[in-house]
Amino acid sequence: SRKPLIAGNWKMNLDHLQSVALVQKLHWALKDAKHESDTVEVALFPPFTDLRTVQTLVDADKIPFALGAQDISAHDSGAYTGEISGAFLAKLDCSYVIIGHSERREHHNETDEVVASKVQAALRHGVVPVICVGETAEDLEKFGASAVPVGQLKIALENVPATGDIVVAYEPVWAIGSGQAATPEQAQDVCATLRSVVAETLGADAAERTRVLYGGSVKSNNIASFMREPDVDGALVGGGSLVADEFAAIIRFQK
Ligand code: 13P
Repeated sequence: SRKPLIAGNWKMNLDHLQSVALVQKLHWALKDAKHESDTVEVALFPPFTDLRTVQTLVDADKIPFALGAQDISAHDSGAYTGEISGAFLAKLDCSYVIIGHSERREHHNETDEVVASKVQAALRHGVVPVICVGETAEDLEKFGASAVPVGQLKIALENVPATGDIVVAYEPVWAIGSGQAATPEQAQDVCATLRSVVAETLGADAAERTRVLYGGSVKSNNIASFMREPDVDGALVGGGSLVADEFAAIIRFQK
């Protein structure tokens, strides 16, 4: 069975000093509960400039949070001003990297092909790609919920080996930051369809093992309803991950 993953995508929020305050508060908010880490994995995705700080803190205090970055270069090193290599992320103990978030697709023109090459870069460096897919409101109206995310995922998975360790995140663009989350049934439908895409491309074992997350206006008051769905293995949380008590409540969804 798959261990749920609750992932906090801070986006472009919190400088490295603010990151310390949030991680400490979060750690305290979770401390009186006995090992959440046995039943749920928590991963934080701070801005690049916070990674070293958060890594040091988590390491020193043995805080059971995994670390991830919000983007990765498709290249390994060299003359790529402003880019961050997967090698650097691996060295900072980043277990994960978000790839193809809708905000990068929209504002940085990341195509499905760019996303696929970044997935390959992550795998080369032993960092697990969190592959984000999702339809806009317009796509939803024109093609229904699954067509666009299925197409995006198929391209992202090209050349991924059957043994490849990946996470898939279904984030309908219309649900991100809107307060208008998908219904649990909608999330389940698309997550199940995405799992079948993993089965077709990487095989049944990979489909069974791969975690498929839902993201888009996940809060402490709706997390449990998503987690009850059989094909939703966790959440990718934006705004709800920036406030310690709220994110702690999301992490404790079962209780
Ligand atoms: P919100 O939780 O703020 O809607 O953001 C979701 C998201 O984009 C996470 O990557």
